[in-house]
Amino acid sequence: MADCIFCKIAAKEIPGKIAYEDDRILAFHDLEPQAPVHVLIIPKKHIASLDQVTEDDRELMGYLMSKVKDIAKELGLDNGYRVVINTGDDGMQTVKHLHVHLLGKRKMTWPPG
Ligand code: AMP
Ligand code: ZN
Repeated sequence: MADCIFCKIAAKEIPGKIAYEDDRILAFHDLEPQAPVHVLIIPKKHIASLDQVTEDDRELMGYLMSKVKDIAKELGLDNGYRVVINTGDDGMQTVKHLHVHLLGKRKMTWPPG
């Protein structure tokens, strides 16, 4: 996707502070962290949102979600963490490339804002 900022980070066209990478997914630190640890985990394939996931993406999404705990462990989130996928307008999704927020190293609150 030509104009997608997260595709550009995945393609190394713009810089990102990378926390984990393999052939299918990328994790990089959020520019405006909302917790001491705040990384975004994305599929390298452009999928606009959780609402746009198709049957073809099943394996990829399962893979991505199964890697969250490994990335969390690598980042030292031994006391738990929060995973958020903002989706669509009401979900306050601002970047239209599916991303999983992984937040940790502080006590979260509930309900979310
Ligand atoms: P969302 O509001 O769920 O779409 O989250 C988008 C997130 O991307 C926000 O937390 C932003 O701070 C973050 N963000 C936007 N641009 C960049 C960038 N170039 N590098 C890292 N994080 C970014
Ligand atoms: Zn993209």
